[in-house]
Amino acid sequence: MERPFVIAGAGIAGLALAAGLQRTETATPYLLLEERPELGSTGGAITLWPNAMVALDEIGVGDDVRRAGRPLGAGSIRARRGTLLRSLDLEQSATALGGPLVALRRGDLIEILHARIKADSVVLATAVRGYAHDRDGVRALTDGDPVAAAALVGADGYRSEIARALHPGLPERYAGYPAWRGIADVGGLEPVQVWGGRQEFGVVPLSDTASYWFATVREPAGGSVHDEVAHLRTAFSGWPDPVQQVLAATDPSAVSRNDVMDRAVPRRWTDGRVVVIGDAAHAMRPHLGQGGCQALIDAAVLARLLRQTDSPAAAFTAFESLRRGPARRVVGLSRTAGRVVEAPAGLHRVASLVPEALMLRSLARIGGTSAFPW
Ligand SMILES: Cc1cc2nc3c(=O)[nH]c(=O)nc-3n(C[C@H](O)[C@H](O)[C@H](O)COP(=O)(O)OP(=O)(O)OC[C@H]3O[C@@H](n4cnc5c(N)ncnc54)[C@H](O)[C@@H]3O)c2cc1C
Repeated sequence: MERPFVIAGAGIAGLALAAGLQRTETATPYLLLEERPELGSTGGAITLWPNAMVALDEIGVGDDVRRAGRPLGAGSIRARRGTLLRSLDLEQSATALGGPLVALRRGDLIEILHARIKADSVVLATAVRGYAHDRDGVRALTDGDPVAAAALVGADGYRSEIARALHPGLPERYAGYPAWRGIADVGGLEPVQVWGGRQEFGVVPLSDTASYWFATVREPAGGSVHDEVAHLRTAFSGWPDPVQQVLAATDPSAVSRNDVMDRAVPRRWTDGRVVVIGDAAHAMRPHLGQGGCQALIDAAVLARLLRQTDSPAAAFTAFESLRRGPARRVVGLSRTAGRVVEAPAGLHRVASLVPEALMLRSLARIGGTSAFPW
């Protein structure tokens, strides 16, 4: 029997790669091994920039995502007392970027991608612990029997065991704050980010009845409390609406909290028939909302390269040389964006001084359609 491509991790990157491989008539056989007992993605919702929408079009699901999501309209950045720092004409930015940003529930994105792949190609509750090369390819090491593969793609996220096998001792450091995310039962809001006191709160409309929100607050790593919403209501007490409004309309049991880490980009992404993509390759701080976008671009690019050659190792090498530089740049910019948000309030006024045209050009270089490799 032909050895399949084994994809470690059925998150955004892994499912998108499988959907991309599925596109051709002679679809490459593939198998996804997923550590968790069920498919899904924590964090409520996600914002996808136009660069990711090109990737989703390439994979063949762009229109499904546009239908399930909501294009973002005008919004603003405000100081914690409500002062306007900058208003964002997102329609104007859609022109500069080549399209609007689209927000949707993560569960919907996962479902759309999953619906495009072969039934029973996902094996749940199976973690990939590493790999070993053999004469005909590579073996994915699991807690049970190894799985013989033509090639192995590590799409196993920030904690990637494949990335750590490629780069032992991969350095990482706590950024100084966790990120909370949730969905509030409140609609009709405009996108807004509120900055101040080394913390931030962002709101993104999802539908007429629901809004996604995210927050960061400087705190020690590893903490968690019984009621994260009550904790945040205290941390953001005195902040203007919609901050308190969305917290009051959020079910605490559906809030996620993750320590934000700065992790180095692995020195190399490939080892013959092994490659890493998505967060495994380039985990980044969340402030630009680009981690998932870059994961989708990886998947679209790698699927196309694999369709063009019979040699997985050649496709992986070409992938690394196309993607490592640009993704590394976005990792650096995301870290800088985090430092700006975390800066003392006086510096936030700088945000209002950047000329509109310059800002739009910079945003287009990060997440515009022209930021997609072809
Ligand atoms: C607060 C916050 C907000 C964000 N907002 C945005 C945003 O608006 N837009 C955006 O584009 N990005 C955003 N991101 C980033 C985005 O969530 C990630 O970049 C994206 O999920 C990466 O996808 P991935 O498939 O590489 O990794 P993951 O989504 O982490 O998926 C990895 C998968 O691999 C599985 N797995 C892990 N280890 C193993 C193993 N050993 N064996 C098998 N399976 C394994 C996991 O269970 C998971 O299913 C945000 C991140 C945070 C923290």
